[in-house]
Amino acid sequence: MGKIFVFVNQKGGVGKTTSAINIGAYMARLGKKVLLVDFDSQGNMSTGVGISKDKPSIYEFMDDDSIAQSAIKHTAVENLDAICADEDLAGAAIEFADVTKVPADKRDFILKETLEPLKTVYDYILIDCPPSLGILTTNGLVAADAVLVPMQCEYFALEGITLLLQTVKRVQNSTNPNLTIGGIFFTMYDSRTRLAQDVVRNVQAYFKDVVFNTIIPRNVRLSEAPSHGQPICLYDPNCVGAKSYEKLAQEVISRG
Ligand code: ATP
Ligand code: MG
Repeated sequence: MGKIFVFVNQKGGVGKTTSAINIGAYMARLGKKVLLVDFDSQGNMSTGVGISKDKPSIYEFMDDDSIAQSAIKHTAVENLDAICADEDLAGAAIEFADVTKVPADKRDFILKETLEPLKTVYDYILIDCPPSLGILTTNGLVAADAVLVPMQCEYFALEGITLLLQTVKRVQNSTNPNLTIGGIFFTMYDSRTRLAQDVVRNVQAYFKDVVFNTIIPRNVRLSEAPSHGQPICLYDPNCVGAKSYEKLAQEVISRG
């Protein structure tokens, strides 16, 4: 039975999408069967793996499970499949919240019901969430077995994590008691700044084993890769960003 990870941080631009794409790509390189699910109307994940605007998207798929064959696209990485998202998903967020369209007790479970049957097909399903703790992210948390939290090494990061963990607790106490924290990891780390070093030290001291050992450095090749529609393992497998995501993917797999 496969495992579903959801990438969550309500702060924007912390590396959710970059991490989901590249951890997924290296899991696939390590022989795992992986499905990426873009669950953000920005569609950045879809662009990053070269399936941008390639309908049907997750929006249509949630409405009709019979279209799995056409919603799931192969990517250029063997064993790595993906489902795209586009601006229609912004409409879904409004529809889910409309009790005349979706009963209140169903609205948090829509993504879960869509992805559940695919757990027998994939070793890992990775969901990329938007930068908010709204209804889409809640659907991601309810669908998932574990949360992965990318964190930028900056002053307000810790406060953001506290709010996020409260949301996780609320979901654990209500709609998904089996949800676990898969771990927190640092992204865009710049070892030259004192602040980054301090944040890493503080977060490690506070969250201990929850923090992954691998730290993703700031690396310009990682930011260039999406415009070529390629994960870093295809765009520049030898750069430091690629090596770091390969190690992080191994760490995620080995934590079980
Ligand atoms: P959003 O909240 O908008 O969905 P996000 O959390 O998904 O953003 P990304 O889109 O992954 O964050 O990253 C934000 C920006 O930083 C992107 O332009 C991305 O290419 C760049 N970026 C991500 N990780 C790195 C890195 N390690 N080094 C350099 N640039 C990076
Ligand atoms: Mg994103």
